[in-house]
Amino acid sequence: MFNLTQLATSLRHTNCVLCEANTRSSVGICKDCWQTLPWQSNHCCPQCGLSTQGSICGSCLSDPPSFDRTHALFTYAYPIDALLQAFKYQHQLHLGHLFAQVSLKQFHPMGIDSIVAMPMHPARLQHRGFNQSIELAKSIAKHWQLPLATQHCQRIKNTPPQASLPLKDRVKNIKGAFRCDSYFEGKRVAVVDDVMTSGASLNELANTLKQAGAIEVSCWIIARTY
Ligand SMILES: [Zn+2]
Ligand SMILES: [Zn+2]
Repeated sequence: MFNLTQLATSLRHTNCVLCEANTRSSVGICKDCWQTLPWQSNHCCPQCGLSTQGSICGSCLSDPPSFDRTHALFTYAYPIDALLQAFKYQHQLHLGHLFAQVSLKQFHPMGIDSIVAMPMHPARLQHRGFNQSIELAKSIAKHWQLPLATQHCQRIKNTPPQASLPLKDRVKNIKGAFRCDSYFEGKRVAVVDDVMTSGASLNELANTLKQAGAIEVSCWIIARTY
């Protein structure tokens, strides 16, 4: 049902967050800018999201990750990188709204039983005051009326940020960082995260979810780096 508040919101003019042109778009990006965004192409590995001709990549064939699928909205490039940084470090919540709106258009909840966000260690959360992945996951879970299983999936090791480490150290750094409970038994889970780089964190989380009984894990990512 379309109510008056929704109508008012949909008719409200805003300025495009990228070029400041007037726009009626509900996501806050004008048509022209929308078309120039670095959208992730369909030609990528369905399991890890790396660029291929659309087939499973060599590394997923030889050493399959614990997650089964990856859906990334964008390639981590301008202006998405700048918008994500502003959302993450300057807590610009309207950008969270923007990414959530785009996610709702692109991620499909078919066959998903539960949503989790990439968890942050409580000490880090206290320092940062904000977990961008939870903000995104909340909007997505609410929209699709799917349970957000935050309390069943925790980060128990306060590891150095993955971005601060060379790729070869990331797997070791994240090992044993998560704990998931039996809530996930028999469930198909979507993990929401903002950026996927080496995939080491998502792989470790997917592995922990599967050990807790999850039967399928999909990664829902805003931007994929290469
Ligand atoms: Zn624009
Ligand atoms: Zn792959």
